[in-house]
Amino acid sequence: MKLKKKKIEDRSVSIDDGKYTPDPESMIQVFDLTRVYQMGEVEVRALDGVNMKINEGEFVSVMGPSGSGKTTLLNMIGALDNASSGAVFVNGINVANMDDEQQTNLRLRNIGFIFQFYNLVPVLTAYENVELPMVFAEEPEESRRKKALKFLELVGLEKQMDHLPAELSGGEQQRVAIARSLANGPALVIADEPTGELDTKMGREIVKILQDLNKELNQTILMVTHDPAIGKLAERLLRMRDGKIVDEIKL
Ligand code: ADP
Ligand code: MG
Repeated sequence: MKLKKKKIEDRSVSIDDGKYTPDPESMIQVFDLTRVYQMGEVEVRALDGVNMKINEGEFVSVMGPSGSGKTTLLNMIGALDNASSGAVFVNGINVANMDDEQQTNLRLRNIGFIFQFYNLVPVLTAYENVELPMVFAEEPEESRRKKALKFLELVGLEKQMDHLPAELSGGEQQRVAIARSLANGPALVIADEPTGELDTKMGREIVKILQDLNKELNQTILMVTHDPAIGKLAERLLRMRDGKIVDEIKL
């Protein structure tokens, strides 16, 4: 099975905002990105001039001390938050220039999210959780069913499809979240500390699934972790400190 990279259809946002010219081959390109939070009198520079590039099909991990800006960077790339300055291109589109509706659409159709605390809907079964983004995307029922079953099978949870999240282990819940992240065939999967709540063995199983998706579906994956053993399972490791990328290691 191979997921085709979907082109982001909404081209009403210009590819080149005049200042930055993204490489058309890259999945993510970040230019001079800053994010400043104003906390009363105090300015927090969560991101302080980040530049980076991730190609289609790459599996990249991001490590760095707590507070170094990892989540903020992921949130900018995932159009969950807006930059103070600079640009973020996802598949050639400047995410920062999008309005709310365009950002919502991008998140629904082109980016899969995996979070530390799984963020499953507690009253829905595993199957329904995976199906939900396809309901929002107005996918017909028959094809929703086919895809939800396929993705649950991919993460090895077809037998538990009727379980509620509370009836699943942490590792199983995260597998459901991975299946859900794939629902609308995203070009990019973003994972923020996906193994943070799991023991080492389960954490490795989760990353193994991400590695398989990366290889088999040519899925581009950007993963934050604080665990060096997990971080080095990617193809490339970026290190952050004080809102900057300070190092890059090919693995
Ligand atoms: P990490 O994920 O690497 O632990 P974050 O990106 O969450 O770091 O945070 C980077 C910095 O930005 C921290 O100093 C944090 O306190 C600050 N920060 C993050 N989000 C907010 C916010 N919504 N309001 C104010 N400060 C924030
Ligand atoms: Mg974080």
